[in-house]
Amino acid sequence: MKEQERLLKQLAHEVIEALTDVRTRRQALDEGAFARVLSERQLINDLVTQACQSAVQNDRQEIIKPKSKEISDKVNVLSDELRHLETQARDIEDAFKELAGVLASLAYNPDQPEINKHLKELREDLRRKAVAGRLAGSAQKLKKLLFKMETNDDGIPPDIPAGPPPENVEDNLRDVLILLVTELGAFEDADVQSRAKMLARKIASEFILDEFKAYVTEIQDLIFTIKDLVRRERREIYRFTEEVISRLDETEQDLVRTLDDNRDRLVVSETAFHASVAGDMLEIEKSFDLDGATLETVRSRVFARIATLRDRFRKKRTEDEARLKQIEEEKTRAEKRFEDIHSRYLTFARKSKEILVEMEKFRQASLKDGLTGVYNRRAYDIQMEQALSELKAGRLTRFGLIVFDIDNFKDFNNNYGHRAGDKILQYIAGTASDSLRQHDFVARYGGDEFALILPEADTATTASVAEKIRATVAGIEFKIYRDQDLTVSVGLSMGVCEGRTDDTADSVFQRADKALYLAKEKGRNQVRTERDL
Ligand code: GH3
Ligand code: MG
Repeated sequence: MKEQERLLKQLAHEVIEALTDVRTRRQALDEGAFARVLSERQLINDLVTQACQSAVQNDRQEIIKPKSKEISDKVNVLSDELRHLETQARDIEDAFKELAGVLASLAYNPDQPEINKHLKELREDLRRKAVAGRLAGSAQKLKKLLFKMETNDDGIPPDIPAGPPPENVEDNLRDVLILLVTELGAFEDADVQSRAKMLARKIASEFILDEFKAYVTEIQDLIFTIKDLVRRERREIYRFTEEVISRLDETEQDLVRTLDDNRDRLVVSETAFHASVAGDMLEIEKSFDLDGATLETVRSRVFARIATLRDRFRKKRTEDEARLKQIEEEKTRAEKRFEDIHSRYLTFARKSKEILVEMEKFRQASLKDGLTGVYNRRAYDIQMEQALSELKAGRLTRFGLIVFDIDNFKDFNNNYGHRAGDKILQYIAGTASDSLRQHDFVARYGGDEFALILPEADTATTASVAEKIRATVAGIEFKIYRDQDLTVSVGLSMGVCEGRTDDTADSVFQRADKALYLAKEKGRNQVRTERDL
């Protein structure tokens, strides 16, 4: 009986082993497959052979039936156990699938082909209904890649072989889960860290295979929390990036406006601009100082953008400053040139004016008589030439000429002195000037002789003017000495004529002069005209 019990135990062990084989091979649990696995086991084979031989030798019905019934019952029990194991295995597989799905969605990154390669492997394993151990291996590889654990040059963890499933599924899973949760706990967030710590402790102390799904759900929650935090952080970084870019755009536009509006403030604006860009860049660099490889695209885009702007601005600034400097230098040179020219012009203008004044003074001086202040002989010659040419051109209808001479002036000088004679000369010149109209002309012809030209005056008018001057002078009794009552009268002999179109300066003067001599001849102190000749 003991032997029978030992044999049955041995048989049960063999059957369990056979069922495990069926499960391991992932074969459907039908009679054929199970029978094939049973036939591979030595003890079962021996027992079946013995049973067959006994049936031939003895009464088959009596011996085989009860034995066969017993085996059949055992098989049924074991089949139930196997189904339970199968269900458990499917649950594990499903849990792994879920976990793998979560890891896959978290790990997917278009910029990281090495992770994608392992994701592909994992998906293929899932499609092929790979065993839990292999899935665990794939998931662990991904996990390590994802969290940037030690990797070789290809980015593949070298220490995790995708080998056969571990013998102890429960222990293996516990280890994998603890490892995974510990790695998740490395994420820099206080809540995640404490949750991971607690979960790892729970798995280490309480984990059993039957509750695997619940643990996977907790891990999944933790992963989603991390994923959410990463997503939020990434969103903030994106927003910050956009802000920086828009700020750079605005600054660029400001710069362009500043350049257009006010060139003088160029250097100041650009200095301020560069300071602000440098500040922005520092901020960006600080903000992007994360270990998340998925942000690389954003970072390189921002840095490329900033680098382009900075280069462009630096180039523009250099060019503008050079141009500004050049313009300022040109402006300074032009201003200096202008100042030089202007000051030279002012000096020239001042000197010219002075010269003109001097020239005029000189001219006037050269035409005036120094003693009497009336015109001199030279002026008379010019004036007479002009009057004749005006007359000949028809611009002047006529002109009268008076030539007069002081009577016996030699005697006057001799009697009362030369200085007194000078005074008489001055007085007579003044009287003659006072008697004339605006356009009339009076000159000291020489010595005690004067000549007057009266435009538009005929002989009679000229003679009357002459008479008026003569009478005025003759009517004055000159007091020679201040302390003596002695007075002296001065007579003037005058000759008058009218200019003719065929006259020369000499001919017209001669006619007047002849009339003057006639006046002298006739007794002096009188007016004679050419008509009297
Ligand atoms: P007549 O009546 O014939 O003209 O006699 P007269 O003495 O005036 O003779 P004449 O006209 O020939 O002499 C001119 C004099 O005028 C000679 C000279 O002494 C004098 N005289 C000439 N110029 C000046 C001068 O600037 N000052 C003074 N005080 N006398 C002068
Ligand atoms: Mg005289």
